Amino acid sequence: MKIPFFDYKKLYLKDKSILNKIFKDVSSKGAFILQEEVSDFEKKITKFTRSKYAIAVANGTDAMQIYLKAYDIKKNDEIIISSHTMIATASAVKFCGAKPIPVDINWNDGLIDPIEIEKKINSKTKAILITHLNGRTCDMDRILKIKKKYNLLLFEDAAQGLGSKYKNKFAGTFGEASSISFYPAKILGCLGDGGIILTNNKKYYNKMKLLRDHGRNSKGNIVYWGYNSRLDNIQAGFLNYFFTKFTNTVKRRREIAKIYNDELSNISQLRLPPFNIEKNINFDTFQNYEILAKNRDKLKKYLFSKGVGTIVQWNGIATNKLRKLGIFFNLKNSDMMFKELLMLPMNIFLTDNEVKYITKLIKKFYKIK
Ligand SMILES: *Cc1c(COP(=O)(O)O)cnc(C)c1O
Repeated sequence: MKIPFFDYKKLYLKDKSILNKIFKDVSSKGAFILQEEVSDFEKKITKFTRSKYAIAVANGTDAMQIYLKAYDIKKNDEIIISSHTMIATASAVKFCGAKPIPVDINWNDGLIDPIEIEKKINSKTKAILITHLNGRTCDMDRILKIKKKYNLLLFEDAAQGLGSKYKNKFAGTFGEASSISFYPAKILGCLGDGGIILTNNKKYYNKMKLLRDHGRNSKGNIVYWGYNSRLDNIQAGFLNYFFTKFTNTVKRRREIAKIYNDELSNISQLRLPPFNIEKNINFDTFQNYEILAKNRDKLKKYLFSKGVGTIVQWNGIATNKLRKLGIFFNLKNSDMMFKELLMLPMNIFLTDNEVKYITKLIKKFYKIK
């Protein structure tokens, strides 16, 4: 059996004729930039997430940079981020001239630890930029308490968070603004790059909408230094189609996660992601199925030799370990966990049999009957 971590070709081939038709229809209209497909998509995402406003942009990284810029994050500001997030989170802060401050993660789910956030707050701290990693929402009650106590801005990197919930409220709707990514391997992926900003603040919505398009207002006058970061209209067409299947996508991912959890839960060398269906606090969408595994590198090699692709997220480099960029210090949980983190295949192209083949191999590796 051959099970790649993510089969990019399938994203297109599975729905080839529909996607071809969308390409043909949109292109024949000449609707390439900021047309109906983009505003339709923005409406769909606002309705689904129960957010007031959405601005579709070129990618999830730009989305972060645009909201940080809109809220005037600048030189000498410190922005708290998670150690377990993509470099994009740190670089968005950096490109506003501010300083990203990585903090430690909690042992339960690998997401930013509220206690560690509070330890790093000082007079320069302007905002917290949390990451809802792996399709799981952060501990929002405690984070919102800290935001309030220290009067900080709160932003959400929800690149991996679309559809995930905390106490029935969607990731990306807790702070001033949030960002979601539509990179192909994301839970809602397009055939290229794409992203969106969510906010409930009308004033900043209006500002960010102009920042997306060269800082031009509806009359074409320049009112800000802006970006060119528009979601490609053809990609919006594809996303409108893929979004019709989103609820089923989430359901299927949760089914696969359940198989993994059932099959792997008695292996003492592994720690599995929490799966709190009953507790009704977190609703996880399993953008990734990330485990902690003893002998991680050997297990990875073994699975690869049997045709199974796995990934060590961020190439195993936490945002507190960016040696070449001049950031290098220790964080207790993060440093420990990064030695064992491993993502197993998790996507809607997998069959139950394939998932069970993977779990069988893992049991074999650890010599479990
Ligand atoms: C994918 C991802 C990003 C970046 O999104 P792009 O659309 O690729 O720019 C940022 N943060 C996290 C956590 C991600 O997984």
